[in-house]
Amino acid sequence: MAVEAKDVVVIGGGFAGLAAGVALAEKGFRVAVLESKPGLGGRAYSFVDPETGDFVDNGQHVLMGCYHETLKFLDRIGARNRLIFHRNLEIEMLDGPGRRATLRTSRLPGPFHMSGALLRYRHLSIRERLRLMLGGMRLMALRRRDRERLARMSVAELMDLLGQGARARQCFWYPLALATLNDDPELSSAALLAEVLKRAFFSRRADSAFVYSRVGLSDLYCGAASALIDRAGGVVATRAIVDGFDFDAAGRIAAVRLRDGGRLCAANFVAAVPPRNLLKLMPEAAVADPFYSRFAALKSSPIICVHLWLDREVTESAFVGFIGTTTQWLFNKRRIFERHGERAPGYLSFVISGARNFIDYANDELAGIVMTDMRAMIPAARDARILKAIVIKEKHATIAPDPLSDRSRPSTVTPIENLFLAGDWVQTGLPATIESAVASGHAAAAAVAARGGA
Ligand SMILES: Cc1cc2nc3c(=O)[nH]c(=O)nc-3n(C[C@H](O)[C@H](O)[C@H](O)COP(=O)(O)OP(=O)(O)OC[C@H]3O[C@@H](n4cnc5c(N)ncnc54)[C@H](O)[C@@H]3O)c2cc1C
Repeated sequence: MAVEAKDVVVIGGGFAGLAAGVALAEKGFRVAVLESKPGLGGRAYSFVDPETGDFVDNGQHVLMGCYHETLKFLDRIGARNRLIFHRNLEIEMLDGPGRRATLRTSRLPGPFHMSGALLRYRHLSIRERLRLMLGGMRLMALRRRDRERLARMSVAELMDLLGQGARARQCFWYPLALATLNDDPELSSAALLAEVLKRAFFSRRADSAFVYSRVGLSDLYCGAASALIDRAGGVVATRAIVDGFDFDAAGRIAAVRLRDGGRLCAANFVAAVPPRNLLKLMPEAAVADPFYSRFAALKSSPIICVHLWLDREVTESAFVGFIGTTTQWLFNKRRIFERHGERAPGYLSFVISGARNFIDYANDELAGIVMTDMRAMIPAARDARILKAIVIKEKHATIAPDPLSDRSRPSTVTPIENLFLAGDWVQTGLPATIESAVASGHAAAAAVAARGGA
């Protein structure tokens, strides 16, 4: 690959790398973003299905109004208008055939708007709802007073502490924890859940808004970010596989080595790749440094997304949560993409988070599980037939959100003076999400700017 030397090399073209690249370009740096795959987007990408012409995301991604860093990034690249904002939080939860209750925020200003949602949640008895609200308030108090204690605790242990019964866990806390942390509540960190709750539900009204892309994920941000970096004198290259670093006599990185034999020099480097990819780039001696060995043990948690095209429409809702089934969420892509009356009527995406126990299942078994779950919840789906199915298993969807892993996440700044880390797994205080990825990219750009060195 022949690219002239730039001020900063960013390795990885996912949300973190592109957010870092865009922020650096805006600060006047000439940036080279190097992405190993043929397309940008990393773990948040889409493609067009040739048969139906539909955009297929690798997995349905939901953003929230509290994704301030992500919204800033999308504003910078002029892509905010590709999002749909639900002004009020309104989540329909199904607990059996047609048995629905909606978590709907009241008109009160934040954070009191959540009390309306919790107090009217009909899957719980009045007593359970009151206890749920008190539990939320106690959790916020704990987050302020004793974050350390929360950081050592699992979500399940937190539920014991907050006196939350089986029903409140099943109908509210665990679906929320699985969706936002992507793992079993017995394993996931209570501190991460508290952070999500604070930012999404116990802040301003607008922060609780559900937000998703009205276009395929790749079209949301990849092209626009790349164009902005280009206009600022930088370059975004795909099929550019970085194989390692060359160091100077002072122990700083002088250049990246590329698989195709190329070499690219820069003053600063941002590695915006997952931990296992980063470790492959580092020389053996560096990996022995506790900074790197601490996160070498980070594990992943998978997500499975089953996309089905049915012979009929089975729901009018844009998204629905399922309680007590393997399948956790249904997203009605016709509603989300606003493509009605086209050839394949029912295009639905189903999500199974924390899918460790299902990742080795065959695709048709997974499609069968999703159909069974949907038929159990939505009577109109009983006789629906599958016209087409695409199953996407993301084995390394996110890092596991357990307390130990959370403590092992590294900082942006590394022992190497001119190497900075970005990626959803870098310590941002947030679970591994788009918001964490973008926040880490912005933090890496700020750290590069603070060092100067163009
Ligand atoms: C199915 C699924 C559903 C999800 N749902 C949500 C959701 O609803 N909401 C939410 O906020 N988050 C969600 N997430 C998480 C979100 O997708 C990730 O947090 C985010 O995309 C991570 O971005 P990143 O840039 O940190 O990493 P990545 O997207 O992994 O980007 C890293 C990039 O580096 C590249 N790379 C690796 N090694 C090299 C190398 N040697 N040389 C060059 N390039 C290299 C990779 O190819 C990759 O493109 C979901 C994830 C999945 C998989």
